[in-house]
Amino acid sequence: MDLADCGSPERLLEVLFRYYSDLPRRVPIETIAADVGILEFRTLEADGFIGGLVADPEKNSGIILVKDGLPEKRRRYTQGHELGHFLIPSHGYQRQCRKQDLEENSRTTAYQRQEAEANRFSAGLLMPKPMFVKDMDVLGTADASHIRRLSDLYNVSMEAVANRYVELASDSCAVIFSRDGTVRYGRASRSFPPLALRKGSPLPERSLTRRYAQVGSTSSWAEHHGGMWVEVQPGVRAPTVLEQAVCQANGFKVTLLYIDDEEEEERGEADDLSARWSARLR
Ligand SMILES: [Zn+2]
Repeated sequence: MDLADCGSPERLLEVLFRYYSDLPRRVPIETIAADVGILEFRTLEADGFIGGLVADPEKNSGIILVKDGLPEKRRRYTQGHELGHFLIPSHGYQRQCRKQDLEENSRTTAYQRQEAEANRFSAGLLMPKPMFVKDMDVLGTADASHIRRLSDLYNVSMEAVANRYVELASDSCAVIFSRDGTVRYGRASRSFPPLALRKGSPLPERSLTRRYAQVGSTSSWAEHHGGMWVEVQPGVRAPTVLEQAVCQANGFKVTLLYIDDEEEEERGEADDLSARWSARLR
């Protein structure tokens, strides 16, 4: 396996998957890490950091550090992230990563770009695209219970799974991560309109997520005027947005938003038709 020339996470994963052609859903991350030069996994004892990497300057071998007490699903994602730093040549040989680094997807600064690359590597390794997309297809139209199910199947945190879910969804859907009623961040699938909520925004007053408090369970769907969640251009009809909430521990919540594209198209056509008729009847 020649990983030294692979600059991008996607190229690296391509080479890795050629070598490990028959991986189970619960990708054996520690075995793979050991195969490529990780000597040991240790507990990280540095306040404010979730994961770390210590390697020799040539990155022939290294040690991955993970914060003590992290649940297994989050630990695996963190290990994948640090393995990304280890294998991507431009990332340097020593690293300490905070919680927000493990959520990074922006390319604004070189630092952010590297963190985002480590995240793409971890998500791509632990939730291999062809297998994950196939599972999503079998599960059907977007639903928060699918995210929960996939999190168990792949043994990866709900948050990492939700991100991968909207990244690969063919439906128009989005996820919003919040804590104590404040938005942490949101991600949307390609066909979903731009989200109106930013980091630090309060969750909409009338949202279901705000009220929903059953820890460990998934709500049914609530229907809203799209203006509650997405940016609506003047003169353009706002879509109907369906909302589902998942309540996790310690005030953390996940919101799944969904737009039924077929229904929206029908509504659009009905609007056109009634506009034409009312023009004639005037
Ligand atoms: Zn990092």
